[in-house]
Amino acid sequence: MLIDFHTHVFAKQIADRARDALIAGVYREQGADYRKGEQLNFRELTVKALLDSMDAAGVDKSVCLHIATKPHQTAAINRFAAEIRAASDGRLCSFATLHPADPDWKTVLDGIAAAGFSGIKLHPQFQQYAIDGAEFRRIIAYAVSLGLLVLFHAGADIGLPPPYYATPKQISRLLRSGIDGSRLIAAHMGGWQQWDDAERYLVGTDILFDTAFVRDFLPPEQAARMIRAHGAEKILFGSDSPWENPADTLLFLQSLDLTEQELSLITHENAERLLAGA
Ligand SMILES: [Zn+2]
Repeated sequence: MLIDFHTHVFAKQIADRARDALIAGVYREQGADYRKGEQLNFRELTVKALLDSMDAAGVDKSVCLHIATKPHQTAAINRFAAEIRAASDGRLCSFATLHPADPDWKTVLDGIAAAGFSGIKLHPQFQQYAIDGAEFRRIIAYAVSLGLLVLFHAGADIGLPPPYYATPKQISRLLRSGIDGSRLIAAHMGGWQQWDDAERYLVGTDILFDTAFVRDFLPPEQAARMIRAHGAEKILFGSDSPWENPADTLLFLQSLDLTEQELSLITHENAERLLAGA
């Protein structure tokens, strides 16, 4: 059993446009020659392409994450999230989203919980609000009180400029404000390209990490050390598909000399526990 806790899909009519905009951001931030000649997305961004890639990589279930970059987008995005969940025979489990500036955030969260979503995805770097600021704190606290999981982008983003809105230090301040860290998932092993700080401020706390989009960036020794020190029961297999192939994520994790039991927790047991609401 393999559960991918961090994937992205878009509605067919906007999939190509979304890909072009995201890739333009990568070249803007990383330089026009970044990975010259390589394709940055290994599959199309549609639901069908995700399902096909899951079959090819042996992924049983994927959590699809969506991001509202403006408050008015939330309703349409969450409708799409509910649709793909219903249409995939349980293979896709979308999280809902909302924007920190939404004046109706409380009603939106009530609706998300009532619709049966397991969680929400927040993207402080896209949404340009600090993860430990008042807007996100109230949203996260209320979401957790409704039983929702909260997964958020952590650290730098390959296609977005500084300043940073969810550094490991900011996340540790959020945790110290009294929020239950065991319902939070900091993506990209606690902070993309900020792993020394993730080790300093987050490893050993209650928060969960996913492994999305770290394989080409986080040295394997550091990945193994972080997993061991933090505890494999708080690590979720995530690829960031279409930006990384889950088959490659799995090979990376298998190369880290983890025990069978640790791998089993990371690849599906933790996800099953969280998605079952336990
Ligand atoms: Zn992602």
